[in-house]
Amino acid sequence: MVIYAIFAQFFDMELIDGKYLVQGIGLHAIAQEYGTPVYVYDGHKMVSQLHNLKNAFSENPLKIKFAMKSLSNISILKLLHQHGAGIDAVSINEARLALGAGVTGADINFTPNGVDFSEIEEGVDLGLSVNLDNLSALEKFGKKYGASYPCGIRLNPHIMAGGNYKISTGHSNSKFGISIYQLPDVLRLISQYKINVTGLHIHTGSEITETDVFLKMAEILFGIASDFPSLKFIDIGSGFKVAYKEGDHTTNIYDLGLKLGKNFKEFYHRYGRQLELWIEPGKYVVSEAGLLIVKVNVVKPTPSVTFAGVDSGLNHLIRPMMYDAYHEIVNISNPTGSQKIYTVVGNICETDTLGADRKLNEVREGDLLAIKNAGAYGYSMASNYNSRFRPPEVLVWKGKTQLIRKRDTLDDLLRNQVVAEI
Ligand SMILES: *Cc1c(COP(=O)(O)O)cnc(C)c1O
Repeated sequence: MVIYAIFAQFFDMELIDGKYLVQGIGLHAIAQEYGTPVYVYDGHKMVSQLHNLKNAFSENPLKIKFAMKSLSNISILKLLHQHGAGIDAVSINEARLALGAGVTGADINFTPNGVDFSEIEEGVDLGLSVNLDNLSALEKFGKKYGASYPCGIRLNPHIMAGGNYKISTGHSNSKFGISIYQLPDVLRLISQYKINVTGLHIHTGSEITETDVFLKMAEILFGIASDFPSLKFIDIGSGFKVAYKEGDHTTNIYDLGLKLGKNFKEFYHRYGRQLELWIEPGKYVVSEAGLLIVKVNVVKPTPSVTFAGVDSGLNHLIRPMMYDAYHEIVNISNPTGSQKIYTVVGNICETDTLGADRKLNEVREGDLLAIKNAGAYGYSMASNYNSRFRPPEVLVWKGKTQLIRKRDTLDDLLRNQVVAEI
């Protein structure tokens, strides 16, 4: 725990001599070189998060499947894969991107939901580790593949967990997974078609801070595992929460790893052999490693609020508007300026508040603001709304910056558009 706290600070951006730095490189210099808005990722922070997970869960044979929907840039996938992570892919296109980044099919956990069965067939053709999330797909899978191709099963444990209703996926009204109450149907299909189930999977949502929720989920899987004799892994999904602001509750992965490790060992004993433990972190690996750097276009005092209007908005970072997410904002151009209250808004024709009533060092037009925790569900949820360009992505790795995605151009907005004959 102590080690984790030191790492978290160490890899955060640091303020030295009035300049904010990541791996010794000034954020201003990065903004100057690549323009704004720009996503900046600290590759070392990501790798250190992977190490934290490996240390925390060292009691078990662990496989980390990075949930790439949180950040799907192929250079990031390559980096994380080189440091031991597999991939959790929720669409066949994500799986294809991961394959392109050098991840093997077997290291890709394919956990789609609500897809046409043909997408699952494609997953099999690509050699992915396929995870089924409804009875209809399980039946089709059984008919087509029988025992010839293994699969995992995603269960819904009916536990309400996670930051809020929208990011909770395991409660009783959630669309995800096969209800634990439908286990008899699962077992009937398995025996009818001799389906080879090699994994049990639960992912109950995002931002789960209580260790007990994970332990309870694991207990549920341990409890039913005896009905599945050919298991190779137990997948407890993710939902590990990181801090978005000072004092935030986070998932104590070390506490979880220890307790889970102990329970897992008892389970192996009952089950008769050791299984792999799979986890699927997205946010935990990349959230804190990303910043969105934006420029203040307009400072607009009104009788009630002073707005800082920036060259970005919900088109680039939708989490504040979509989930009421809090992203810390820092004025990196004026670290010692006197503090005032601002509401930071974007330039989209829509209410796109990035941070309301924030105490920031005095903001002047032209200042650069860093929006923190932008690594997860930042760029991957960005759009071209208002026909604006999506920002470039820059990776900081080994003390150097690399452009890993270019800023959009007008051609990107026109691509695929066909002019009608009128
Ligand atoms: C989104 C998702 C994850 C990752 O969740 P985080 O909160 O980002 O860690 C893991 N597994 C599945 C199946 C998911 O859909």
